[in-house]
Amino acid sequence: MPWLTQGFSTRTGGCSTGPYATLNLGLATGDLPSRVAANRERFFSVFGLTPEKVRGVKQVHGRKVLVIREKEAAPAGAELAEADGLVTALPGVALTTVHADCVPVIIVDPVHRVVAAVHAGWRGTLAGIVFNALETMGAEYQTDPADCWAAIGPAIGECCYRVPQERVDLFYSRWPDLFGPEPPAGRLDLAGINRDLLRKAGLSKGNIDLAGVCTSCRREEFFSYRRDQGETGRMLSLAVLKER
Ligand SMILES: [Zn+2]
Repeated sequence: MPWLTQGFSTRTGGCSTGPYATLNLGLATGDLPSRVAANRERFFSVFGLTPEKVRGVKQVHGRKVLVIREKEAAPAGAELAEADGLVTALPGVALTTVHADCVPVIIVDPVHRVVAAVHAGWRGTLAGIVFNALETMGAEYQTDPADCWAAIGPAIGECCYRVPQERVDLFYSRWPDLFGPEPPAGRLDLAGINRDLLRKAGLSKGNIDLAGVCTSCRREEFFSYRRDQGETGRMLSLAVLKER
């Protein structure tokens, strides 16, 4: 799609050190703010973007999706709206979500040229945030999920995401059709569940690109909140409709 730019960052290529080495893009970490700002500018410049063109949200593991209708300047950290997804049809306004294991999902409607960026942790996945993103796109821009494409980025894989059985059971009782006759034992494949939810919402199988990369397994390339026991950096998922 020549009118769209999209990317998932890795942890390489930045200036942070220690547990944040090197491309920590998360503002709400124990890293030096000046280094995070420098890293963010470096990452945004790859896309020809400056920080004031980049929008984010205060992620709260919910299902709320924010619609960006105006090209106003991006609010500073403390003033960010609480949500776990963003939608826009405005070219030149970059949408970002922050990650270190949770699933980044980008959804694109090529008919109406609308883009969504979603942060889907286990709570957001269970709450069906991808449905909410598609419903929001439908209500605001007449998006039909059958037209949409999606990219699911690096996230903690089933290999490393051991969880209490009660959590698995929550998913199994909500969407038994996503699983076999028995719930999986003590593990969840959050990226795969989001792919299956996008399919349920009406996206074609061939229109969903799943990275299939585990952030916890690949220490050299990714931060992992769970692997690093909370003291780690953050990656960004970014999507922007190009300005003509
Ligand atoms: Zn793994």
